[in-house]
Amino acid sequence: MDALHLPRLFETIIAHACQIVPELSHIDPTRIFVGVRKLAPRRLGQTVGLLHIKKRGLFCPAPKTIIVNEREIFYVVTLSARLVSHKHASVDALETVMHELWHIGPECDGKIRAARHGKKFNETVRTLCNTYLDRGGTRICSIDHNARVRIRHLRGHTLCERTTTLARLLPTIHTYTCPNGHLVTRPRRISRPSSCATCSKKFHPDFLLRPIV
Ligand SMILES: [Zn+2]
Ligand SMILES: [Zn+2]
Repeated sequence: MDALHLPRLFETIIAHACQIVPELSHIDPTRIFVGVRKLAPRRLGQTVGLLHIKKRGLFCPAPKTIIVNEREIFYVVTLSARLVSHKHASVDALETVMHELWHIGPECDGKIRAARHGKKFNETVRTLCNTYLDRGGTRICSIDHNARVRIRHLRGHTLCERTTTLARLLPTIHTYTCPNGHLVTRPRRISRPSSCATCSKKFHPDFLLRPIV
């Protein structure tokens, strides 16, 4: 079976949303580069405006333009591959996409919208999602972890693209337990002997953490 092209999947949804949601009609989807990759566990998406990158509090033009399909790119939207994992069903992929689109400036000129994260931002995102679904938009599918997927992202101005399995793109969480049954989770494997901080503030060999398999 062919690998599922995740960036194209999101591109289709973004193009559809910009067409049917009036609040997103200012966005020209051909100005957006959509990347999908493994992101840090807490990060679901990221939007960078390319014409006005903030440096030391000042806005200045991006040093070099990025051309994709003969169009100059104004925004790079990077989404976490875990958005399509059924194991992370609590994560609403559609909300993440709408969230990133709402960061795009009202002129779609490479600037980021002057709106801070918070209650109002999240309310707007929810409204965008509802409008999109009411007008015939569909939720983003979730796929099996063994499925082969095509992903890509920009490293500087270089396009990195590869095929892998979804499982390899999911955040890993390592779980450990101490002799008293306390559970400890870590984003990385523990490399040296560690003891349970609940049982003893200082390292103590009686309370060693052991991995749960
Ligand atoms: Zn955001
Ligand atoms: Zn303990």
